Amino acid sequence: MGSPYNQLADVKMLLFFTEIGIVGIIVLAVLVIGSLFVEGLWCRYLCPYGAMLGLVSWASPMKIRRDVHTCIDCDRCTKACPSRLPVASKLQIISPECMGCLKCENVCPIKDCITMAPTPKTKVNGRQFALVVAGIFLAFVITAKVAGVWNTKLADEEYRYHFSQRDNPAYSHPGR
Ligand code: SF4
Ligand code: SF4
Repeated sequence: MGSPYNQLADVKMLLFFTEIGIVGIIVLAVLVIGSLFVEGLWCRYLCPYGAMLGLVSWASPMKIRRDVHTCIDCDRCTKACPSRLPVASKLQIISPECMGCLKCENVCPIKDCITMAPTPKTKVNGRQFALVVAGIFLAFVITAKVAGVWNTKLADEEYRYHFSQRDNPAYSHPGR
């Protein structure tokens, strides 16, 4: 994180798009055109962050759960799932592809038939789940602010110096 490259990581990301090369253009074009034919081409099959988040989702105690006693088998949840998971035929969804969007819960006509909960007996509705997620996020932000690690310690002058050196080979990616 302290490498010259990382001092300018945000600028490098911007330059990737403003000074994009032919390989970048070809890759983006392939992704855009491919996405017209394959839904979620990047997010579902290629995104490395998606794979990482999928592992978190898979390991999470919070799962989409279906109450078979109240379910009327209308199949709306399965049709609404953007990850094409068979929600209507499962007791719970254990899949790295579940992103917790709660679309299945939103379309379900039966109250509390689908819940995002740690156990089958716990009822957590979408609003409560969203509040918990927002609370965890805020807790991280507040902790980082209190610990003094939220804002960069890089002074403006230092940043300008790094920026003027952006084409210097010492500022290329550490892996190169
Ligand atoms: S929460 Fe979203 S991704 Fe997960 S099963 Fe429901 S609709 Fe599919
Ligand atoms: S939408 Fe609700 S009622 Fe319909 S199949 Fe899915 S869980 Fe059952």
